[in-house]
Amino acid sequence: MERRGRILLADEMGAGKSVQALALASCYIEEWPLLIIAPAAMRMVWAEQIEIWLPRIRPRDILVIEKSENAPWLQAERKGGAHRVTVVSYEMLQRLTCDACKDWRRYPVSGGARPMGQSVLSGCQAPHCMAAMGWKVVVVDESHCLRLPRGLSGNPRTVAALRVIRSATRAMLLTGTPSLSKPFDMWAQIDALKPNLLGPKEAFGLRYCFVSSKEWVIRRDFSGRPVRNELCTVVRFTGGRHLAELHGLLCREVMIRRLKEEVISQVRYPNSSRR
Ligand SMILES: [Zn+2]
Repeated sequence: MERRGRILLADEMGAGKSVQALALASCYIEEWPLLIIAPAAMRMVWAEQIEIWLPRIRPRDILVIEKSENAPWLQAERKGGAHRVTVVSYEMLQRLTCDACKDWRRYPVSGGARPMGQSVLSGCQAPHCMAAMGWKVVVVDESHCLRLPRGLSGNPRTVAALRVIRSATRAMLLTGTPSLSKPFDMWAQIDALKPNLLGPKEAFGLRYCFVSSKEWVIRRDFSGRPVRNELCTVVRFTGGRHLAELHGLLCREVMIRRLKEEVISQVRYPNSSRR
């Protein structure tokens, strides 16, 4: 609460992150609808968790998007109003998002070419676009999936989710593996959660990672057959350093990380048979 509902919840696995996220999300119920982004295999688990922990939300108020035909705008039409909670996979979110909103070049990262403060939704002309629906409260499960794109074209799956996080008022990112040993993989999610906290990604990489600048690259012929190995110059950030400093910064600003034993004793299950 004291971080205004924008946090990276990195408790150890089994510490009840989903319960905590739902509890926090329910503190902002006035600002719902709630969007939950999760790996495809976890969608139904989330719907069940909501029914268990938030009994005020009726099953008919929960929309689990399993195919494009279940897009929220189509379902809202059928139902005669929007659902209170929508659960979507990373993949489906990307499929229901317009090209502009999943274009990495149009996404405003810290230190990027676009001035900060410019609307993160600018450029979206689509009549229906999942990332531009103005979600105010969002929970992102397994948020370590949101790694920085390797190439310039970006990973549309990542960009759609990052954009949702950027434009939401409350965003709870859940990860059991915050990959502190590879800080560069965390940059995108933290930057979306708290723009400018970590600075531009290059400066961040130089401070907290090692730079590998020469790499063996496999050259292939036109049919894709490997021809030879070549030592090429590529700047790639690997590994991690100054980790204590980074850990301190994250804990101060966005991250909550506790062990299972610290948390589990505080969680009371509403129905012990479900445990
Ligand atoms: Zn869009």
